[in-house]
Amino acid sequence: MGLNDSSPGAMRNGRGLSDQWADSVVVRPRTTERHITVHKRLVLGFALSIVTLIIVTAVAVVLSIRFEDCGDRRGAPGEAGPRGSGRSNGSRGDRTGDRGDEESVQPWRNPRLPGSLRPRHYDLRISVYMDNFTFSGEVSVELECLNATRFIVLHADRLEVDRVSVTAEGAGGRPANRPGGGVMRIHRHFPFPANQMYVVALHREMKPMRVYRLNMSFDAAIEDELLGFFRSAYSLHRERRFLAVTQFSPIHARKAFPCFDEPIYKATFSLTLRHDPQYISLSNMPVEASSLSDEDGWVTNRFARTPRMSTYYLAWAVCNFTYRETQTDSGVTIRLYARPDAISSGAGDYALHITKRLLGFYEDYFKVQYSLPKLDLLAVPKHPYAAMENWGLSVFVEQKILLDAEVSSSSYQMELTMVVVHEICHQWFGDLVTPVWWEDVWLKEGFAHFFEYVGTDFLFPKWNMEKQRFLTDVLHEVMLLDGLSSSHPISQEVERATDIDRVFDWIAYKKGAALIRMLANVMGQPLFQKGLNDYLLSHMYSNAARDDLWSKLSQAMHSEGRDINIGEMMDRWTLQMGYPVVTISKNQSEQRPTHYITINQKHFLYGEEARKNLSLQWQIPLTVAVGNQSSVCVEQLIWINNRTETHRIGQMDDDTWLLGNINQTGYFRVNYDLQNWKLLIQQLHSNPQIISVGNRAGLIDDSFNLARAGYLPQGVPLQLIGYLPEETSFLPWHSASRALYQLDKLLDRTDEYRLFSDYVLKQVASRYHQMGWPSNGPGTEGNILQASYQTEELQRELIMLACSFGNKQCHRQAVAYISDWISSNKNRIPPNIRDIVYCTGVSLMDEDVWEFIWMKFHSTNAVSEKKILLEALTCSDNTFLLNRLLNLSLSSDLVPEQDVIDVIIHVGRNPQGRNLAWKYFREKWDILNARYGEALFMNSKLIGGVTEFLNTEKELYELKEFIQSSGVGAGPALPRALEIVEGNVRWHRLHRRQFYQWLRKPPSLG
Ligand SMILES: [Zn+2]
Repeated sequence: MGLNDSSPGAMRNGRGLSDQWADSVVVRPRTTERHITVHKRLVLGFALSIVTLIIVTAVAVVLSIRFEDCGDRRGAPGEAGPRGSGRSNGSRGDRTGDRGDEESVQPWRNPRLPGSLRPRHYDLRISVYMDNFTFSGEVSVELECLNATRFIVLHADRLEVDRVSVTAEGAGGRPANRPGGGVMRIHRHFPFPANQMYVVALHREMKPMRVYRLNMSFDAAIEDELLGFFRSAYSLHRERRFLAVTQFSPIHARKAFPCFDEPIYKATFSLTLRHDPQYISLSNMPVEASSLSDEDGWVTNRFARTPRMSTYYLAWAVCNFTYRETQTDSGVTIRLYARPDAISSGAGDYALHITKRLLGFYEDYFKVQYSLPKLDLLAVPKHPYAAMENWGLSVFVEQKILLDAEVSSSSYQMELTMVVVHEICHQWFGDLVTPVWWEDVWLKEGFAHFFEYVGTDFLFPKWNMEKQRFLTDVLHEVMLLDGLSSSHPISQEVERATDIDRVFDWIAYKKGAALIRMLANVMGQPLFQKGLNDYLLSHMYSNAARDDLWSKLSQAMHSEGRDINIGEMMDRWTLQMGYPVVTISKNQSEQRPTHYITINQKHFLYGEEARKNLSLQWQIPLTVAVGNQSSVCVEQLIWINNRTETHRIGQMDDDTWLLGNINQTGYFRVNYDLQNWKLLIQQLHSNPQIISVGNRAGLIDDSFNLARAGYLPQGVPLQLIGYLPEETSFLPWHSASRALYQLDKLLDRTDEYRLFSDYVLKQVASRYHQMGWPSNGPGTEGNILQASYQTEELQRELIMLACSFGNKQCHRQAVAYISDWISSNKNRIPPNIRDIVYCTGVSLMDEDVWEFIWMKFHSTNAVSEKKILLEALTCSDNTFLLNRLLNLSLSSDLVPEQDVIDVIIHVGRNPQGRNLAWKYFREKWDILNARYGEALFMNSKLIGGVTEFLNTEKELYELKEFIQSSGVGAGPALPRALEIVEGNVRWHRLHRRQFYQWLRKPPSLG
């Protein structure tokens, strides 16, 4: 899924289920620990029985119960031996309890499905009524009984269930009139809304190894709320049109039909859709048969049966879109469906083109064919996420898939590309092999996010995404979050349906990706690829947990004679929150020159108070280089397992610096003694190229964050970026600008702000003037695919820094562009910098410009342009206009629903709007929470965005008050916001003075 929020957990349920229902081809016999334990107790019991009769009796009673329990489950047919590891078996058994008292246990009261039945196939027939936005359905589920039970418990939410029947199939799943078959009498059936479940209680028990068929019919509404089977509208030739589409991940399939809505319950699906013939319908598989009714003229489309899959990536859509198509060399048909006007303008062609190349790329990389005969990409006007990877029918919000080459910037193109790369990766990681349970959602999201960079490098090798942009956009970004004490481990336990959205957070996506990248680098690409191939082949059409992955990767390493226990190493990183700061220093006890370094690891945390009682430790793959003004020598990998270690490396003297985490492949920060920082800074000033571009960006990010957390004096990062005039690469500039904007928001309301902005402008000026502005002559923007990405991005970065920190020439240029646009009514602003120019224009020019941009926002049809026009409106320093914008966003449908949050956040980034956004957010919380509450990611984005730059004692107090009065049920976003704002206030209290003091009188290098 293209974006979301999550914490760790012992993989109890997940792990067991995986083994339980792995495909029968993957037989992994295991003795379960629990059984062994029980047998030991038995033996012990009998031994004791010799001693005393009373004890014998007591023990016998206890053991007989245990024995029955054990024997019962063991004897359950259909288990085929490997029924799960001891851990999970235990927890499952405890939950369902013994058969005898199931009635009293009431399995529907447990948040997880009981596991006595397993769906094998669904026949699903849906009639869609677009005129009144309702649908009715019939589902027939073929069930295999694993443990005897009287209850069928499955998921259903907001469905009006009317008829229910259950039949037992004859031996071998034959029709019910065969021996042993027949109608099962239903005792009662009822919904259990607390767990979004539906219960069918039978008079008689269903028997293990037998097959049953559950038939249900139901009705429901096609809601206007982006979940389940929902509708949205768009206009075509000034006419309002509707479409209806599904979003089932993670737990909304149950809103469309009764089903076993947990990822482990894989089954095959045969879907039939019936609807008005003015619409077309799509689903995961191609249409197998289509017919028109003589009676009402309605069309019935029967889709081909799917392979085994989970409910959350089943999908269908009813719309009147058109498409363009292409075919891969291996015969897979790819179609892009969108509004007819978007299709005819060619806005879908780019995504179609890269999707074709990507299917080939992944087939080569994973050495596993794409599994379905076709892949449709559907561009919808409204969607709760950037995109959703439904197998064979992936759904994208228009802004993440439609590209108008004339007006789209390269960053828009890059973002769109990455979303497509991400969703296509999921066709393997997620759809073909699915995490056992949501606690390991990072197994699919971390991979898809990592492959965004690898796959984009395949499409555009010059972009160098995995070695460069990954650092700033993933690694640096997530270390900000994961350095908070309110963070959580990447694997986080969830049970209740309402908590599941929580696991889709940046920790799962970005930390997942960063850990996978670290591992890929430790293993080396060929072995990493080999391990992945083995993992996918072993678990295809099935589920897997993280231990399954670790074991395949370990096997790949062993095959080359490298003895690393990947599971043991990775558990430290996935089951513990946070990450370490590694401090490297030359060994002080020795005479110079020395060969020894001392390495120390500590849990990195922004809050100094939180660092007391730290006990976490990691297995760290550390690479170290030693260098001086003329040469650098990269050392081998050093594994750090202890808190403090000493290692021997190459010879060092007083002028030799140490550099850790080469190319920032590791997920940790590196600190040094002050003398070493000084040597590194000197190196950057005199000859930065000796240090790799990734490490230059890393030094900038580490130093700013170490200073922000109080591990380093405030002057160190400021002195370090003094080398920027020498910097010719995009990435270090990007790393610096991210850190500087962060500081900017902390400082923009302080009296001495000019000291800071002048310092930044001083670093930026020479490179900015040298790079200039992009030209916009004919031809230069014609093909952005060919543009030199690095140069364009650096130019853009410098213009943005210059304009936002107040470079006069930059301001004049932006104003000139806007004036030209207004007077000529021709937009000659290069697409790549339009957002900067619009925003600068709106902030500097009068109200007429705001109105002009507002008008353009309404008149443009290009989605990328619409988005930046809207954001530009938030740049005004006129609070009246900002207020008007906020009100219009929320209370009218002038602003697309998913963009409302961005409007509020952007107003909050504007120093003139900060109070306004903060006040507005609190006043409208009830409305916002009602609208975005269920898609928790949106809510947490909003909370984070509105609060992250609050930094006064007063604002902190207001935030605390807000949390107390209204913050119930907003998930982890509010505690996190509180910690961030506390950190901001603390920084002002402890470090601001030192920061400004350095700026007033920076010491010279030397
Ligand atoms: Zn995803």
